[in-house]
Amino acid sequence: MNNFNENIIRELIKVKADSPPDLASAKRKISKENKSSFPTNISLLKTYHELLRDKSIGPSEKIEGLLKTRPVRSLSGIVNVAVLTKPYPCPGKCIFCPTEKGIPKSYLSGEPAVERAKRLHFDPYLQVKKRIEMLENEGHPTDKIELRIIGGTWSFYPKKYQEWFIKKCFDACLEKNAENLKIAQRLNEKARHRIIGVSIETRPDFINEKEIKHLRDLGITMVELGVQSTYNDVLKSSKRGHGIKKTIKATKLLKDAGFKILYQMMLNLPESSPKRDEKMFEELFSNPDFQPDLLKIYPCALLKEAPLYKQWKKGKFHPYKAKQLEAIVKAIKKKIPYYVRIQRITRDIPSQRIAAGATKISNLRQTISGQSMCRCIRCREIKEKYDRKEKVFLFKQEYPSSDGKEIFLSLENKERTKLYSLIRLRLSSEGKAIIRELHTYGQLVSIGKGLKSNKSAQHKGMGKKLIKEAEKIAKKEFKVKKIAIISGVGARGYYRKLGYKLEDTYMVKNI
Ligand code: SF4
Ligand SMILES: [Zn+2]
Repeated sequence: MNNFNENIIRELIKVKADSPPDLASAKRKISKENKSSFPTNISLLKTYHELLRDKSIGPSEKIEGLLKTRPVRSLSGIVNVAVLTKPYPCPGKCIFCPTEKGIPKSYLSGEPAVERAKRLHFDPYLQVKKRIEMLENEGHPTDKIELRIIGGTWSFYPKKYQEWFIKKCFDACLEKNAENLKIAQRLNEKARHRIIGVSIETRPDFINEKEIKHLRDLGITMVELGVQSTYNDVLKSSKRGHGIKKTIKATKLLKDAGFKILYQMMLNLPESSPKRDEKMFEELFSNPDFQPDLLKIYPCALLKEAPLYKQWKKGKFHPYKAKQLEAIVKAIKKKIPYYVRIQRITRDIPSQRIAAGATKISNLRQTISGQSMCRCIRCREIKEKYDRKEKVFLFKQEYPSSDGKEIFLSLENKERTKLYSLIRLRLSSEGKAIIRELHTYGQLVSIGKGLKSNKSAQHKGMGKKLIKEAEKIAKKEFKVKKIAIISGVGARGYYRKLGYKLEDTYMVKNI
């Protein structure tokens, strides 16, 4: 144990440190006494945890909060771990998509996630392990993990590779090598790092009944669909290789199977225009065939490594100006319903890689995504604003979706500016009730830690309340006798306690 660090922690406890200035003054005092330089918050946090483990101090949320370097990472209640697949071709020929040797299709060296993966030779085990270590060092709980698998078209990778890849991710969370994927998944139910959701990226034309079954066997809970456009002529001139019918079909199959769906949409594709782009987002939420749960909105970036570059050279493609992009994003944000989360706007491509256009401006992301809040889920998530005394209300929103019905239930403050918890219940096109998502926001509270947190919306029974409500609706309005939940393997234990049993790959309850 580091004595110097220990003295600082004890000083923090003694003075009942409450703010960053308190922390700075404790550091100053002890450093002066020891004639030594300031320790980092990470190393102090490590000492704090050691003292806690030795039971030589009691837990203190305040001190923990002060020492956490980037609290924002776990503010959504779950930590994200992104893992990149190995370089592999994609059957697609999309003209905006870059190809770079040694990098998975559609990605570029220099992107932070790519650089991290490259250093580790795209080894899934090491990528997950290192990421968990980093999050732990920064003081984040790592017991609820959402795994985001990125890189190319997942469904095109050999099935053997897919299984190996996911098993390795689970192994890293288990801190050992399991015999096979099934066993790894079962062990993960009680592991220290539980995987509560897994997402992949794929093309709409790769989704069919067989692929869905396979995705469920792998434990996938969310699919990022490369939709890009809702216009057939735009899809055609971008050489997407499929029309909008495929997107509509994939969306329905995925929703009926309980998956959460993210649409990757692209602005400024050839044949589109600011007006058409705007209209496209109107269509996403007025046409029941679409209705995605999450969105990634990327303005098309002009890259030398993509075929579109040649068209631009010939004067056939015109990148939008920054002002145009700003106006489109503003207009889109106005149209976003309460039940949608904008995951991100613009990609992390280093600006020197972009040949021309507004996406080259390095702070474009801040100007277009940060300028105005919208009412999307992300902008309403409670984060650190949790207020124990605030009254929370139950909201119910119903909308038609892919030949079925969606019911979005949420617990929010009266003005709907602070979202505490949400559930997505679906009556599928075949008349089955399925919960596609349950999420409680706020600072992540460790599973079973027993820490009585006043700050967090998690573990306050909100999730349970929403499940009960969903069960009631399924029974009374849908008139079904059974309800299923798509669940990451790490969340199965939670649903068992509520009377659900594992059936196939779903948690199921008779109601
Ligand atoms: S499908 Fe995706 S990865 Fe494949 S070429 Fe098109 S954009 Fe690139
Ligand atoms: Zn928003």
